[in-house]
Amino acid sequence: MADWLAAAPETLRQALLEQIAAEIRETSAATGCYELSETVRQALMAVPRHRFVSDERQEWAYANIPLPIGRGQTISQPFIVALMTGLLLPDPAATVLEIGTGSGYQAAVLARLVRQVYSIERIPELARTAAQRLRDMNIDNVAIRVGDGGQGWKEHAPFDGIMVTAAAPNIPPALVQQLKPGGRLVIPVGEPGRTQDLQVIHKDGQGAVFSRSVLPVVFVPLIQNPE
Ligand code: SAH
Repeated sequence: MADWLAAAPETLRQALLEQIAAEIRETSAATGCYELSETVRQALMAVPRHRFVSDERQEWAYANIPLPIGRGQTISQPFIVALMTGLLLPDPAATVLEIGTGSGYQAAVLARLVRQVYSIERIPELARTAAQRLRDMNIDNVAIRVGDGGQGWKEHAPFDGIMVTAAAPNIPPALVQQLKPGGRLVIPVGEPGRTQDLQVIHKDGQGAVFSRSVLPVVFVPLIQNPE
């Protein structure tokens, strides 16, 4: 597969990380993230993004752009993956929930940083492919299930962090409920087909909830009804 790439994946990844670090600095006034953290950098360096994209898109695997993954869905832009991972700022002992498994790339990045990742995908075929991919890469701390992520994953709640990688017009209340005190929810809020508002919701030690707008983003929609 790597034959499709113009240079060694590690070299391409290194170049991509430099672009991401620059973009993190350029957007810092809006995002409040001033540097790409060393732990997030290491996680992005360790995960081979080319294994999450199809054969015909190998040459774009390390471009800082989203790519189609089938079924009208996309693997997010690497800068956005880096930003959202940094905003979640998970602790190594954390349990996190991701909504929208897609290719499994974001889950694989989170898996390097935390103890356990739970990820929910609406489209069974994408969930199956992602789970197989992670198994092939010996990533054993990601559990994937098919369902509506807007309901969260009650059996494993509460979570230290929740990341939603599809845009919701409103913040699903179940996700706020399933957040631990002190936990964070990172979610693009807004209507599909236009720019959404990436928000960080923080639940404090007393259970009070605060939100902050970070950056305009564009995500595929969070769809409630099953396939
Ligand atoms: N995190 C992914 C990118 C996901 S794109 C990656 O790293 O590749 C958004 C994904 O959310 C799509 O796969 C879409 O099918 C899924 N999705 C949309 N609505 C959903 C819902 N209600 N519950 C779970 N997944 C959903």
